[in-house]
Amino acid sequence: MSAAETTPDSGRISRKLKVHYTGSMKRRPKRWTWRKLKMMIGAATVLVALVILLLSGLASLRLSLAESETRAEANLAVQTAVLERLLDKFRLLSPLLARGPDIAQLLAQKEQVTHPGIAAIAAGMSGAEEIWLMDTSGRVVVSSQDAVPAGAVGGAERIPRAFEQARQGQLGRELIPGTPESPSNYVFASPLRADDHFVGVLAVRVSLDDVEQAWALSKDPILALDRSGRVVVTNIAAWRGKVAEQIQPGLDIADLSLLGRLNLLLPAAGGAKSHMQLTSNLPVLGWEVRTLVDIEDARRQSSWAMLIALLVCVITAGGLWFLITRREEFVREERRSRASALRLERRVQSRTAELRKANALLEQEVREREQAEANLRLTQAELVQAAKLATLGRMSAALSHEYNQPLAAIRSDAEIAEMLIERGRAGEAKGNLARIGGMVKRMAEIAKTLKGFTRKSGTDIKPVSLRQVIDEAMLLLQPQIKQNEVRLELALPQHDIIVKGGRIRLEQVVINLLANAVDAVNGRANPEVRLSLHREEEEAVLRVSDNGTGIDEDVLPQIFDPFFTTKDVGAGLGLGLSIAYKIVHDFSGSLKAANRVDGGAEFTMRLPVADEKLLAAE
Ligand code: ADP
Repeated sequence: MSAAETTPDSGRISRKLKVHYTGSMKRRPKRWTWRKLKMMIGAATVLVALVILLLSGLASLRLSLAESETRAEANLAVQTAVLERLLDKFRLLSPLLARGPDIAQLLAQKEQVTHPGIAAIAAGMSGAEEIWLMDTSGRVVVSSQDAVPAGAVGGAERIPRAFEQARQGQLGRELIPGTPESPSNYVFASPLRADDHFVGVLAVRVSLDDVEQAWALSKDPILALDRSGRVVVTNIAAWRGKVAEQIQPGLDIADLSLLGRLNLLLPAAGGAKSHMQLTSNLPVLGWEVRTLVDIEDARRQSSWAMLIALLVCVITAGGLWFLITRREEFVREERRSRASALRLERRVQSRTAELRKANALLEQEVREREQAEANLRLTQAELVQAAKLATLGRMSAALSHEYNQPLAAIRSDAEIAEMLIERGRAGEAKGNLARIGGMVKRMAEIAKTLKGFTRKSGTDIKPVSLRQVIDEAMLLLQPQIKQNEVRLELALPQHDIIVKGGRIRLEQVVINLLANAVDAVNGRANPEVRLSLHREEEEAVLRVSDNGTGIDEDVLPQIFDPFFTTKDVGAGLGLGLSIAYKIVHDFSGSLKAANRVDGGAEFTMRLPVADEKLLAAE
């Protein structure tokens, strides 16, 4: 291969390879992308599920916390109000009592008064725990409680700040902190004056136990802290008197920022209960009231919400997965069916191509056959023409011979007769003239035989008895049979057989067949001719057989041809069998010739049997 030839070919190959290569390269990333896409969808689903989980947890937490907060806020407001109201009530009591004119006189008696008197009444009526009257030095002069000896309880030592504030003319306030065993007390102190002189201090001690009892009804822990962070009032006795830092470690105060809330969604470590802390300030006292709300319920609810969200996510993801898988399966199925359709199409195409090729071949064959048929027809026509010409030739030869011979004899006989008459021997001429007449008769007979061909078929047809036909033919041929010493065997049925045809013409057929048979056995050692008649279903079968020479196989196909003869010139015209053939066919029958196995020929004539009633009608 030259270089010039190689270049375009190799170029085409490399292009093909390139296309194939890029095709496969394109397909692979596609499959990879789909897998990657599925992984990404899976990851995204997990991520989305996580986000949904967190969001639903957070939302549930937020709702529950908001609810708890609202409830706790309301509770805190109520409980704070209880504390404030109590203190407000007693805040006014000490100035009121201090202004009474009798109170200062009690101190002016300068005697130790142990009887509680008015102080006890005031304390009892107001619900204050205790009311003291103190002199300027801070010594308790009067106390509302009998049991407590004067001077033994309270005094400026116990409420130094309040005493000092009262001495300076203000409303003194001081807290007496409680312990886990005893509740806290709050003291209000007011100055006692007589003639504008400071004579002492009136102090009202209020037990905060009432507040604690009211707070005890609340299920959430409540605690009030003073400025120093000590628990003053609480519904949990154990916390009383302790600082916030001491009780805080036992409590888990939840961080309610976003991160803290996220943390709340996780299970609690060590089973510690989380609390939400709400605060309310009492600015006058400088106290802070706190309530701790158990948020375990909210956490539990958020856990449930997350669980439900997880379930929903799992179900949704499962549904999505199912749909994706179904879709994938569908796509695969579609691809498969498309491939099989393509395969089928290709097969159909190739089959169609094959069929088209086969069709073309068939068409070619048909054309060739048509051509061959046309050629055959042409050849046949030529053959027929040739056969016709041959027949015409044979006929001309036979006829010219048949006519020329008697004509020549007639001419010579006429000349002889003329000569004899000229010489006056007219009597002798008679014989010649008689011979002339015989020969003319013979020529007329030939002409008559030839007319058999021209006779129209179908005319003169009526029911004919075959027995009668055979009898008459025998009668006519009897002299010839006898002359040749032929043994004739007749095998006739008991019942006559009736056929449709012309009697004379059928006789001619039988005569022709018998005459030929007699001719064929002529000169044989035991000349035998057999004639049989029988019925086969709806046919009459007549057979003429002999033990003669038989028919040469070569000439067998031609023996029914007109003017075909193997006999010597003048002995046969070759018209007997052809006329018989035509007659039998005119009567819708058949005539066949064959050689017998043990020598000789056999002719079989078949004719359709006529309705016997027809003959009766005739
Ligand atoms: P022809 O008898 O004038 O020759 P046919 O048409 O009757 O004409 O017969 C044609 C030829 O058929 C005969 O020349 C003969 O060769 C042959 N043929 C007819 N009958 C017989 C027979 N029975 N045996 C042998 N040959 C026969």
